[in-house]
Amino acid sequence: MAISEEVLQKYQLAGKIAREVREEARKTVREGMPIIDLCEKTESLIRERGGKPAFPCNVSVNEIAAHYTSPPQDKRTIPENSLVKVDIGVHVDGYIADTAVTVCFNPEYEGLVHTAEEALKRAVEILRPGLSMSRFGSTIQKVIKDRGFKPISNLTGHLVGRYVIHAGKSLPNVFHVSTSRVNVGEIYGVEPFVTVAEAVGKVESGKEAHIFRFSKPKSLRDSYAKQLLNYVKENFKTLPFTERWLQGCVPPSYYKAAFSELLSSKALISYPVFIEASRKPVAQAEHTVLLVKDRCTVLT
Ligand code: MN
Ligand code: MN
Repeated sequence: MAISEEVLQKYQLAGKIAREVREEARKTVREGMPIIDLCEKTESLIRERGGKPAFPCNVSVNEIAAHYTSPPQDKRTIPENSLVKVDIGVHVDGYIADTAVTVCFNPEYEGLVHTAEEALKRAVEILRPGLSMSRFGSTIQKVIKDRGFKPISNLTGHLVGRYVIHAGKSLPNVFHVSTSRVNVGEIYGVEPFVTVAEAVGKVESGKEAHIFRFSKPKSLRDSYAKQLLNYVKENFKTLPFTERWLQGCVPPSYYKAAFSELLSSKALISYPVFIEASRKPVAQAEHTVLLVKDRCTVLT
């Protein structure tokens, strides 16, 4: 499957914006900084550069592996001595670039960060059309294990589609029996997650969820719920969003009930935070890549 020149240019622009904003975010993160400031600054930078956030800026600290973004009026700050994963998504006309960096404020965790970066580097070196998911997973697992660490076994890279972050195919970070292969023209978010050797090496869903997306149309009782759902569909389509982006869509006194109905009716689905099962720190590195003739090219 070849992609058109026009589509490729949109992916490349999304990738360029994602790379620039990631590097800005890397320089911006500070201990004690309000997480909401980092999320909002990052999302504004994406818009200023002509992209749109493909999902809310994720700022996941220590044992939180993924899916934390600030809710409205968030009071949380970046803790001292922490490991901070900033995961950024940009889309241009629905074509997505997904990239992440881990910023480390604790010398003890630096090995985790370097290992995630090494695993990503190796992934980019080996990815080419025809490579099997099994071979990919076992290679990444070995890179991480050889450095004395452990991959998170139930978080994977993923095929990217238009307005879809996880478009069906997964790129495992551990060996995994599969006949699936990567193909030319496909675009993947490649993202090894690394924890310490004594950890369980899996994530579980936490109680909190601050990221949502449209799931399916439902008949809704409340007219503000309908209005809110229309706003979501028009603005985010099938991409994830945060309640921070819904402020002012309906009168504030009706918002809470309207949003609750969208959740209880299952018109929306939520993404709970992912926490390492043994509460050990997790590092991540991510690029979005395009599979070309005999290799892959990094878009981010
Ligand atoms: Mn990501
Ligand atoms: Mn991703």
